[in-house]
Amino acid sequence: MQTTRFVLEQQEIPTHWYNVVADMPNPPSPPLGPDGNVVSPEQMLAIFPGPLLEQEMSAERWIPIPEEVREIYRLWRPSPLIRAVRLEQALGTPAKLYYKNEGVSPAGSHKPNTAVPQAFYNHMVGIRRLTTETGAGQWGSSMAFAGQMYGIDVRVFMVKVSYEQKPFRRSMMQAWGAEVLSSPTTLTKAGRDILAAHPDSDGSLGVAISEAVEEAAGRPDTNYCLGSVLNHVLLHQTIIGLEAKKQFALAGDWPDVIFGPCGGGSSFGGIALPFLADKAAGKTPNLRLVAVEPTSCPTLTKGAYAYDYGDASGYTPIMKMYTLGHDFMPPGIHAGGLRYHGDSPLISQLVHEGLMEAIAVPQVATFEAGVLFAKAEGIIPAPESCHAIRAAIDEALRCKATGEPKTILFNLTGHGHFDMASYDRYFSGKLEDFDYPAEAIKESLAHLPKV
Ligand SMILES: *Cc1c(COP(=O)(O)O)cnc(C)c1O
Repeated sequence: MQTTRFVLEQQEIPTHWYNVVADMPNPPSPPLGPDGNVVSPEQMLAIFPGPLLEQEMSAERWIPIPEEVREIYRLWRPSPLIRAVRLEQALGTPAKLYYKNEGVSPAGSHKPNTAVPQAFYNHMVGIRRLTTETGAGQWGSSMAFAGQMYGIDVRVFMVKVSYEQKPFRRSMMQAWGAEVLSSPTTLTKAGRDILAAHPDSDGSLGVAISEAVEEAAGRPDTNYCLGSVLNHVLLHQTIIGLEAKKQFALAGDWPDVIFGPCGGGSSFGGIALPFLADKAAGKTPNLRLVAVEPTSCPTLTKGAYAYDYGDASGYTPIMKMYTLGHDFMPPGIHAGGLRYHGDSPLISQLVHEGLMEAIAVPQVATFEAGVLFAKAEGIIPAPESCHAIRAAIDEALRCKATGEPKTILFNLTGHGHFDMASYDRYFSGKLEDFDYPAEAIKESLAHLPKV
């Protein structure tokens, strides 16, 4: 019987994260404050702990993973690398398809890879409370779990419409001891302002971020956590690609192309950046690293590379990234984790400089790919992950046409057990494709901050 599952021992959990800044051809552009000046560490220390800020600005290639973090990682890591031979057979492709399964974490996605170190460093500097926001609930549940590991209280501002429509993600956060509030609340000025203007507001991620940041900035015992986009988040996620490299060595194989879904870019960076190190060093010049996004929120493929706010209300520093404009309103597609107007500045720069690529795929085809994958491999993927699966299957079918036996890797960022309502809409034919009109993108890009 052929080996299809490449597993590492717990002792082989990497001891260091990889910082791509050390190997980038050009240094990253720093975030700027409202006055156009570089944001000072003092301003950021109001809401982030020192060790995370150091990581945010570091250019060191290797950053040690604290033993206290590896001890939590071992609850589910190393995650398996699987060769999807049954999917290869179903497609009749000469290509080899591998996936890294990040759905095996307690919260069911890659997000705990960064939630755990974020909780740890806050604990280390004596923080007792953390605030954060959540849309669909993936990040909030990861942060609730991570806070519980170090005895930190977590308050989650959950966008009201999800709070009402996704009661089980809410219960999950409660099971890990977090307090979950329906945002907008009357506890913050940001929340009260919105409620005064729109008493029936459904909430939005932008408002929930503003509420969480406002509370953290106003309380010395409380900090704020973000689940994607920032450099330190991508750094923590490199554990995915570092493990995958060891596993490919075990398999005696190496990827020619890597696909990952891309919302804020953390899981894509996590799987791709450790491989980029070899590409940047000229060892694997032909390796392709491809971010996959929805055609309804085409940040990297149709956005502008410019300075913009990280949130909808213009509360955060401005960052140089691909953006659709901070007031861009993505349609209510089912891959909630991919509905973000911007993207990680690191990923944006690497795409801009041609070291990484991006493609966009339409929604219905992603569910089609997810169901094909579930029928062959058994696992029901998160709608976000279905984007990478679509791209990997399309590549495998191109290989079938040309006869090329390429090795394809994709990131299975999460399972879809809390997303069955979305699958239900797909099965009943109610899902639609939506290409964001170029005119509407032009309109929201007209509101970029002037630098
Ligand atoms: C949040 C999420 C994503 C997208 O976020 P990134 O920061 O781009 O990784 C992808 N897949 C799943 C399962 C998610 O929960």
